[in-house]
Amino acid sequence: MEKILNVKDLHVSFKTYGGEVQAVRGVDFHLEKGETLAIVGESGCGKSVTSNSIMRLIPSPPGKITKGSISYRGQDLTQATEKQMRKIRGLDISMIFQDPMTALNPTLTIGSQLIEGLLQHKPVSKKEAKLKALRMMDLVGIPNPEERMKQYPHQFSGGMRQRIVIAMALICDPDLLIADEPTTALDVTIQAQILELFERIQEKTGVSIILITHDLGVVAKIADRIAVMYAGKIIEVGTKREIFYNPQHPYTQGLLKSVPRLDLREDTLIPIEGTPPDLFAPPEGCPFTARCPFAMEVCDKIYPFHSKLTATHNVECWLQDERGKRVAASAIASK
Ligand code: SF4
Ligand code: MG
Repeated sequence: MEKILNVKDLHVSFKTYGGEVQAVRGVDFHLEKGETLAIVGESGCGKSVTSNSIMRLIPSPPGKITKGSISYRGQDLTQATEKQMRKIRGLDISMIFQDPMTALNPTLTIGSQLIEGLLQHKPVSKKEAKLKALRMMDLVGIPNPEERMKQYPHQFSGGMRQRIVIAMALICDPDLLIADEPTTALDVTIQAQILELFERIQEKTGVSIILITHDLGVVAKIADRIAVMYAGKIIEVGTKREIFYNPQHPYTQGLLKSVPRLDLREDTLIPIEGTPPDLFAPPEGCPFTARCPFAMEVCDKIYPFHSKLTATHNVECWLQDERGKRVAASAIASK
């Protein structure tokens, strides 16, 4: 498998009047060609900041990548110039967001927006661009593309608009598509259709996908691997199977209990009590300590080591580490 993206020790902070918010605190992950990686976590955990960093869309100031590297096909994007990034954003890495209206111009027809996107970045004729636009509309499942090209964004439903945004994001044949909560604004049946569309597009084009979501239910269908973020860190990563059937971090376990699942009969959903720590002054130890039912003495003092459970399954929790287990055992013995 070819690694197309490799993020190493990424740190991102925001300067505010109240101090510096450490939004991303040492994140490592990679993405293989044709793979879907889901980054999951509560709002404020740093997942959007991570994906915006890849696109170098962190507003600076107040934001700043303070440490680490983002290697895309061997080029470190943290060092790229704005000119290089504009080219990469147009041709190689595309991004779609929750609200399709932010990506569409209400005063232009869908056709002209699709065609313009292609003409801006690729040396093709207007006629070729129009043909490609029609093919993309067909690929994303918009009926009567010839007619629909002449219409304006407000003439489409929310789900159809998100399909158009996906067509726009794919028209230059990018290697990587980053989708930040792409179905959150849509109702459940439309959500399912859009997720199916992602699957179909990946089969047809081989595009790699990073899917950012707060909803583990959404990733169950389409993710190959899942990275769980908490308080600016990836606390567990694994294949979909490993995360759904053998979650090892208490936070991941909590997340799974708070999501409705079709494959389990349990219908009691248990929310995780408490709130994540303040990232103005993140704790030195495990940031989940205050909410964790298994917290031990060591937990709030020292951040847990990185434990490799399998070639694909990694977790950062003292329960996975001999040292943490010893502390836990002696705590239980002294009771
Ligand atoms: Fe819980 Fe400790 Fe593991 Fe953190 S390190 S998740 S507090 S057991
Ligand atoms: Mg977000």
